[in-house]
Amino acid sequence: MLATISCSMSAIAQQSSFTVGTATAAAGQKATGYIEVPAGADAATSIPVVVVRGSKPGPVLALVSGSHGTEYASVIALEKLIPQLDPAQISGTVIILPLVNVQSFLQKVPHVNPVDSKSMNRFYPGKADGTQTERASFLITKQVVERSDYLIDYHGGDLDENLRPYSYWPKSGNDKQDAITRDMTLAFGLDHIIIWSDRPKDPNASRYLDNTANTRGKPAIAVEAGYSGTVEPQDVHALVKGTLNVMRYLKMLPGTAAMVEHPVWIGKIDTITSDQTGFFYPLVDRGTYVEQGMKVGYVTDYFGNTVFEAHAPAAGVVLYICAVPSMKKGDTVANIGEIARNP
Ligand SMILES: [Zn+2]
Repeated sequence: MLATISCSMSAIAQQSSFTVGTATAAAGQKATGYIEVPAGADAATSIPVVVVRGSKPGPVLALVSGSHGTEYASVIALEKLIPQLDPAQISGTVIILPLVNVQSFLQKVPHVNPVDSKSMNRFYPGKADGTQTERASFLITKQVVERSDYLIDYHGGDLDENLRPYSYWPKSGNDKQDAITRDMTLAFGLDHIIIWSDRPKDPNASRYLDNTANTRGKPAIAVEAGYSGTVEPQDVHALVKGTLNVMRYLKMLPGTAAMVEHPVWIGKIDTITSDQTGFFYPLVDRGTYVEQGMKVGYVTDYFGNTVFEAHAPAAGVVLYICAVPSMKKGDTVANIGEIARNP
């Protein structure tokens, strides 16, 4: 019933305002505010949100960054995007969450929300009565994912990750949706694309943000650029440019979307972990192509004796390699992407 009504009223629906959290934007307006996550088992938090309500009707696109608050290039990219989005030019609505994990950013803590030590991209769709990460994930699911038609989740190499840019194509098995997400990755423009098939199918245990959208029938991709705490202009530019191009593909901006023509598809990721604790020394850079068996780095004990050598289990491209000397037994040394045929 609701679908019929909203469908027939879509032309005038854009006359109405759109609210996320405390941000309400009328058609042709941009508004800022916060998604207020109330206190529960632990402290409350406020997640900044921007709503850009285009003057013309169209889809709702959510852009979410900073669930890992020290993946700075992705956070800065959405900050840079905010003034570039002109509501008069936009068909539809853009919801921007530039920094989900505020405490990670402020305290410079990688990977997790320091309030509850949970990754803010592993606990979707969240819980209303859980810890802060779970409560935030619950509200983002309700207020952002469920109200969007498309979603992009932004990441990058964290403080300790020397990463080359890439995107994920989430292959769900739903051919129609997979065709759209494939096009979204091609329009985004990063030239290395990971085919990610092995994902939770249950919407109630979706874990990742993009998967939360995809399991709810909303095409979503994840993109990564930036590394080791840096904010390189080319990484920020790639993320901004990719976003605008996806908006052209979705007909939310005028113009034709340029698509990557011959990306490197990656079919399998090999994670190399360290057998030993000590000092890590990389021997290859992010983006290096390696042969099977190649030594990509080594670990010494605290006295300089080599105690572990990391070898590539297969030929492929170094998606990221540990950027710092700190190495704990079981930690990731590098991720190697094995090249796949054009799917
Ligand atoms: Zn991340």
